[in-house]
Amino acid sequence: MNRREYAGIDYFRIIAAALVVAVHTSPLLMINETGNFVLTRVIARVAVPFFFMTSGFFLFSDSRMNKEKLYSFLRKTGLLYLVSIIIYIPINIYNGYFQQKSLLPNILKDIFFDGTIYHLWYIPASMLGAVIAYYLVKKLGYHKAFIIALLLYVIGLMGDSYFGVIQSSEILKSFYDKLFSFSSYTRNGLFFAPIFFVLGGIIARQRKQYSVNLCLIGLLSSIILMTVEGLILHSLELQRHDSMYITLLPCMFFLYQLLIQWKGHSLTILRKSAMIIYIIHPMMIIFVRLVGKLTNLQGILIDNNLIHYFVVLICSSVAAIVIARILKKKTVEGYKQFKSIKYKDRAWIEVDLDNLKHNVDTLQTIISEECQIMAVIKADAYGHGAVKVASFLNEQGIKSFAVATIDEGILLRKKGIKDDILILGYTDPSRIGHLIQYNLTQTIIDYDYAKRLNDYGHSIKVHIKIDTGMHRMGENANKVEKIIKIFQFDNLEVCGIYTHLCVADSRDKEDIIFTERQIKSFYSLLDNLENNNIILPKVHIQSSYGLLNYPEVHCDYVRLGIAIYGAVDSIGDKTKIQPDLRPVLSLKARVALIREIAAGESVSYGRTFTADDDCRIAVIPIGYADGFPRNLSCECGSALIHGHRVPIIGKICMDQLIIDITNVPEVKQGDIVTLIGIDGREKIYATEVADDSKSIANEILSRLSYRLKKIYI
Ligand SMILES: *Cc1c(COP(=O)(O)O)cnc(C)c1O
Repeated sequence: MNRREYAGIDYFRIIAAALVVAVHTSPLLMINETGNFVLTRVIARVAVPFFFMTSGFFLFSDSRMNKEKLYSFLRKTGLLYLVSIIIYIPINIYNGYFQQKSLLPNILKDIFFDGTIYHLWYIPASMLGAVIAYYLVKKLGYHKAFIIALLLYVIGLMGDSYFGVIQSSEILKSFYDKLFSFSSYTRNGLFFAPIFFVLGGIIARQRKQYSVNLCLIGLLSSIILMTVEGLILHSLELQRHDSMYITLLPCMFFLYQLLIQWKGHSLTILRKSAMIIYIIHPMMIIFVRLVGKLTNLQGILIDNNLIHYFVVLICSSVAAIVIARILKKKTVEGYKQFKSIKYKDRAWIEVDLDNLKHNVDTLQTIISEECQIMAVIKADAYGHGAVKVASFLNEQGIKSFAVATIDEGILLRKKGIKDDILILGYTDPSRIGHLIQYNLTQTIIDYDYAKRLNDYGHSIKVHIKIDTGMHRMGENANKVEKIIKIFQFDNLEVCGIYTHLCVADSRDKEDIIFTERQIKSFYSLLDNLENNNIILPKVHIQSSYGLLNYPEVHCDYVRLGIAIYGAVDSIGDKTKIQPDLRPVLSLKARVALIREIAAGESVSYGRTFTADDDCRIAVIPIGYADGFPRNLSCECGSALIHGHRVPIIGKICMDQLIIDITNVPEVKQGDIVTLIGIDGREKIYATEVADDSKSIANEILSRLSYRLKKIYI
């Protein structure tokens, strides 16, 4: 799924950050003044528009113009702004910022437009720009929004690089005078940012892809033109400031067209680091100057602009990577804990979407380039919530889903999943209308079933299932004639053919031999079909354990269920390859009641637990009706509380269970109990719960009850 991500955009973030540092350090000044002007006052001017466009690109990529996305962008950017303002206060104090005249109006002006220190103007500009662009596009559509944003840009130009042009007009002069009392530059959120947000949105929504050559030619010629434009304006001394050029617009357009074509693995760390470099580099400039002075290396570290530039850039990058790492751990974990603690229900399921993404990314690296993950979302996505999981995976680039029943498929369609959905199980042919209406792909379970579906006379999409030894569903692999006939039915559009392995989870010699025979029999059927001039549709064999134990088998799809939920057995050498998969689901509840039990007293139904000594117990409002297995009663199972593992005592009831907390005296009513998941250093995996209750993780997870609410963290 990473394959689809915009690696080009992520890499260019670092280049853009490096250009911004160049603007503030003038690396070429000693070598060639004009060269430095071209680099820092012309070419480097792509950096900030690039950041605006990137925000626009991701903010407006959704055709529904999701308001939530905008709010979340504003919240995050606002927080970043607040933090940035605060960390620069010491420097403001040192610079005498707070001693200036009419402090309050100036502070307001800086906060809304100019930034409280020189480079911070970018943050309020991106917030204002986002809001303006959002409402323009929402109310007027892209065309008109673009024209208005362009007009704003032109007004901006006249106050920036083209300022000299308006000097002859008194009216314009006084207009700009007024304007500059609110904002020191027109390079701000009102005149500068909106056009780039709109442009980012337009590019995100366009269907056409321009050829790389065209983009390169467009980009190169725009850069040349922009250089010429900049040099002319500079030599005519028309510039009041040098951020805005006419040719900057085509330049950004072609640059972005080029960047979005570079797809590949992206590094989240780049995304964060680029922004941190942007925020902290002025501090690094001061730091490097200080070190230069203290070490008497002024000549190298400060006076040589080029070295100065690289030292500042390297220091900023290293600091940024360190900060990004720390922040990631702290904020993500803190946020998740906060969400969990805030949630006040009696019992709930927590779904960690980061881990889901991590698992899919990890599994993606195991399968071949041509192979796609078909995410198995049956049984409410193994208890994780089908709609949310499918939408999330869809956003991450997963294009193919499998469900067990037609109604599971219909639900996903109704909730907006547009990509392929394969029904793995049986659908009564009378529901063919729904198959068509919701564009679902049906599994053909044998020849007779194919014939019945075909006889309805409406064309539907199917995958043919082949039985290679499991003897559950599928046409017998040896019945080649019949399988060929299925391909020939007029009303069945065969999009796939697959089989299912029945002992792929086992590493026993005999089971491996059996599985290899299954795979061989499936492939010889495929050869046979090809020899009969059948053009093979998409082919798939492996489910999770199939992939983990037989990674060398390469098909068009892998049908992954339990692996993407991170609940496969990884203890010992149970699977051939053991990628780092992380559990996605946690099961939690809150202590309802604490009570003291005297020696000799019993607890729960059947009086199976009788206290030997005085003890303290907690009643937890979750039971087998929530899907927690009853055969974990009587100390077969355990729970985590305050980072300790404690036994479940007595019989588990329909709606409650009881734990012994004698050894954890700090427990109080309302505390969180983890039945599946992590608490401090202790972990209970779904596979452990499954082993203890003589089941498998798939059953444990998929039977978690509708009664538990799900929270996504
Ligand atoms: C459920 C199912 C899968 C997914 O199995 P996991 O072991 O959870 O990956 C794959 N294929 C078929 C036919 C299934 O029924």
